[in-house]
Amino acid sequence: MSGAERVVARLSGEGVRAVAVSFVDNAGISRVKAVPLGRLPDVALRGVGASPAFDAFLADDSMASADGYGSRSGDLRLVPDLNRITRLAAQPGWAWAPADRFGQEGEPYPGCHRLFVGRMTRAAADRGLSLRMGFETEWTVESDRLGDGPAYGLARLADSGAYLLDVLDALTAQGVEVLQIHPEYEPGQFEVSTAAEDPLGAADTAVLVRHTVRAVSRAHGLRASFAPLTTPSGVGNGGHVHLSLWREAENLLYVGEGPYGMTAEGEAFLAGVLRSLPALTAVGCPTPVSYLRLEPSVWAGAYRCWGLENREAALRFITGAAGEGGTCANAEVKCFDQAANPYLLVGSLIAAGLAGLDETLRLPAEYGDDPARADADELARYGIERLPDSLLEAVRHLEESAVLRKAMGDHLFGAVLTVRRAEHRLFAGRARAEAVEAVRWRY
Ligand code: GLU
Ligand code: MG
Repeated sequence: MSGAERVVARLSGEGVRAVAVSFVDNAGISRVKAVPLGRLPDVALRGVGASPAFDAFLADDSMASADGYGSRSGDLRLVPDLNRITRLAAQPGWAWAPADRFGQEGEPYPGCHRLFVGRMTRAAADRGLSLRMGFETEWTVESDRLGDGPAYGLARLADSGAYLLDVLDALTAQGVEVLQIHPEYEPGQFEVSTAAEDPLGAADTAVLVRHTVRAVSRAHGLRASFAPLTTPSGVGNGGHVHLSLWREAENLLYVGEGPYGMTAEGEAFLAGVLRSLPALTAVGCPTPVSYLRLEPSVWAGAYRCWGLENREAALRFITGAAGEGGTCANAEVKCFDQAANPYLLVGSLIAAGLAGLDETLRLPAEYGDDPARADADELARYGIERLPDSLLEAVRHLEESAVLRKAMGDHLFGAVLTVRRAEHRLFAGRARAEAVEAVRWRY
């Protein structure tokens, strides 16, 4: 029996009859082709067809028109990763697998985000380094369906306890390790955070967690939204990314002589991320609505600065409780949201960090307060800047990022810019409420 045949036999024994093979497009939407389980060995070898036009899709399913992207002819092959194939606990009969994209001759497709993560992970490995990463997932359901109540309110568990348990059980059954799961700030808003993994695993998990939350929500007669804002006056859903840098068994954010135990390499990596944040914002905050969430004083991290446990800094450094540091010390990048393609974001973060490492960058002084309360002198003294307050401004930073252009390669970089510019045009002139409504059920 081939490896794929063994997978089929196992899943078939678990009642699986169909496999969802998914990828995430440049606009941040997960797209799917599904096949009967029996076809998996063939599909694992040759892939299932998908149009290259997906490269130009926008969040509303229209297409950006630009030379070189969005061609209606040609075909790509979605090849499911059998190392990650997962029976979907909340959708009996179904399994899911994330796909890498190849050309018809089996050549790696330069626009594939998952292969991009592989390249960046290897670039780190070439330097003897590895990363651990994890996403926080926030989502909102219609609050009138699940009761509202105080932010983080224990009272809200009385309404939502059974629902959250079903989310927890489904994730656990799928091998996803849950760290926290609870009501968040807004009525109808929840959060689940999952354990750190290798970068590709973290991005795959982000996709799987959202899909699982969606499926469990459906079973409870609810609709889940992961959009940056779900009401015009809300605080919104973030998609914070935690990361730490390792050399073999050593956490380079903990075993050194630098700030809070960072090694010089750990510090340089974070300084590289901090430097590239304005350009990374175009990757991690991909819709004009992202910028309605990325505002000061709502814990979204709207300023380029770093600080220990500072929830208003885009880069929050975390050491954990006493004794936890070796395994726990990490940086949380708070400014991003879940409209982001998690693969593109993870790969871009690694690229930005490695560039910092190669240039032995140092971190500026840390900042411990809310930068929104600082005056211009203080901001200048700490080198703190407001992150882009519009997609257009973020795109300008991305256009100028030699680091991200080189890391992504011209094809992927061009596709991302094409889609971002088109998303900007799509929303130009729309009022806040209209823009929020337009994306509410897209992510
Ligand atoms: N909902 C906030 C955001 O949009 C984050 C709240 C928190 O720090 O967990 O990023
Ligand atoms: Mg949260």
